[in-house]
Amino acid sequence: MPKTLLEITGLKKYYPIEAGIAKKQVGLVKAVDDVTLSIQKNEVLGVVGESGCGKTTLGRTILRIIEPTEGSIKFNFDDREIDFTSLDKKELRGMRRYIQMIFQNPYTSLNPRMTIFDIVAEPMRLAGGYSEEEISERVRGLIDKVGLEVKHLNRYPHAFSGGQRQRIGIARALALGPKFVVADEAVSALDVSIQAQILNLLQELKEEYDLTYMFIAHNLSVVEHISDRVCVMYLGRVAELAETEELFYHPRHPYTEALLSAIPVADPTIKNERIMLPGEVGNAANLPSGCCFHPRCKYAQECCKKECTSLKETGPGHFVACHFADKLTLNGIGELKRKN
Ligand code: SF4
Repeated sequence: MPKTLLEITGLKKYYPIEAGIAKKQVGLVKAVDDVTLSIQKNEVLGVVGESGCGKTTLGRTILRIIEPTEGSIKFNFDDREIDFTSLDKKELRGMRRYIQMIFQNPYTSLNPRMTIFDIVAEPMRLAGGYSEEEISERVRGLIDKVGLEVKHLNRYPHAFSGGQRQRIGIARALALGPKFVVADEAVSALDVSIQAQILNLLQELKEEYDLTYMFIAHNLSVVEHISDRVCVMYLGRVAELAETEELFYHPRHPYTEALLSAIPVADPTIKNERIMLPGEVGNAANLPSGCCFHPRCKYAQECCKKECTSLKETGPGHFVACHFADKLTLNGIGELKRKN
């Protein structure tokens, strides 16, 4: 029976919009709006959506890099349930070792004035409780594990390629032996061939260090091979959540269908029929009425403009926020490929 590692309930992150000298609140940007989901131990949950859909804010709010407005975040570590939202600053610092983040841009996330050794050693020095011998041994072990050479430990980040820098970022994230890692667009800034190497590395490290990942990306094709389940977000809300294969072959939300149609097919004789969504992602400060996807949805009906959607289970473990989830026949990745 899989154990739940993380349980998020009704999580919200709203930013007030202030105007005038008196800074009167005139509105709210709903970056994350009422997200409820759980992640099992050793699971990889992919979180996808276009820029501005709230996926990065979700990851940062879960780690309390950004404070949530409302909702609860509970972790289960070693059969201890920790209410992460109620921890004070000191307790939070103590918990940081269990939860880490791999950042999006390997060119800006590493301090250019520090050697690789110091970059990877820094979390252990800040956490305290490690001797310099222990730190040295662990840094060397991690650098070797992420596929870099120990003899380069005294070099600075500029001497490394994008893929190598991301490996350094991964080694740093693992320095304190975390149990949960949020990888925020961890491969987006890299070439496709390097992306595959980093994804394989993350997969190997997951097995070796017994990790659980939240893997954030704007592209479904990137999450396909690494994720056990995929959560599709739109305007701060969960649009669809299902096991990866189920979501790719039997999507039930029109937004997921559109994202799937954008996945390139590695066969020049196949013409991909891409669904072009009209307009941009809506404005989180002024959400559309009813279903927030309705201005861009080709299946929208009159009721979609008035009635809000909520996430409902339409099949085992398959959750969808669409009034017509059971009625629409949408194209999964299989149909999109066969059709041509
Ligand atoms: Fe489209 Fe209506 Fe479903 Fe929203 S509720 S996704 S507008 S069909």
